[in-house]
Amino acid sequence: MSKTIISRKGWGSKGPKKPFTWLNKNRVKGVALHHSGVKNGPSGVAAVKAFEKHHMDSNGWNAIAYNWLVDEEGVIYEGRGAGVVSAATRPWNSRTESICYTGDGDKPVPSKALESIRWLTSSVQERYDNKLWVKGHRDLASTSCPGTWLYNWLQGGMGIDRLPEPQEWDGIKAQIDRLGAIVAKKPLSRRRRSRGEAVRVAQERLKALGFDPGPVDGHFGPRTRVAVMAFQKRYRDFLTVDGVVGSNSWRMLFA
Ligand SMILES: [Zn+2]
Repeated sequence: MSKTIISRKGWGSKGPKKPFTWLNKNRVKGVALHHSGVKNGPSGVAAVKAFEKHHMDSNGWNAIAYNWLVDEEGVIYEGRGAGVVSAATRPWNSRTESICYTGDGDKPVPSKALESIRWLTSSVQERYDNKLWVKGHRDLASTSCPGTWLYNWLQGGMGIDRLPEPQEWDGIKAQIDRLGAIVAKKPLSRRRRSRGEAVRVAQERLKALGFDPGPVDGHFGPRTRVAVMAFQKRYRDFLTVDGVVGSNSWRMLFA
């Protein structure tokens, strides 16, 4: 299967300001995966243009930071393109090619986009004799990028077949909101010996995100508390690390 890549000219790029710096092929070690990290941001080509504007005008960079971008529909865009030093993965910019998913990698990513990311990754790999590793930005710098959902997919081997579809996710959203209202009134904690459906759903979610809560049994035990704290630590810019699931942690778990 081959895919079309929209060239910089094709999407109306304004960059680069000066000629690109080329990667030294022998020094390149891997592919770095990013996401936009913007909640409810623009989609499609508008997201790509917003990135370019931000990187060139606000950050004063030479061009859009990434080598490649993939939107929610799976459309692939040329950023700086093949073999060019990028700007998003310091200190790895001279040793990686970067791919940015323009959606939010904390939420389930549509299969179309995953397919394109996987295809693009292997096409980059081919240019480097399949010697590159593929890592999330968070493996290379202190950041939550590329979002927990996308990162877990990457860690899980980038499979497409057994992925939860976003539609299914919408279906359980109502349940999440209903339980969230209960949690807001009565936070879940080990001290309260919380138990029941909300605990079970939180445990299931923690497990899916890679934080082992012990058995998913609806009982808030010590291992669940440890998992909650690890999750809160990951998002410590937003959450208090107290091992208690209140409304903020609940919202972040299901963001
Ligand atoms: Zn990133």
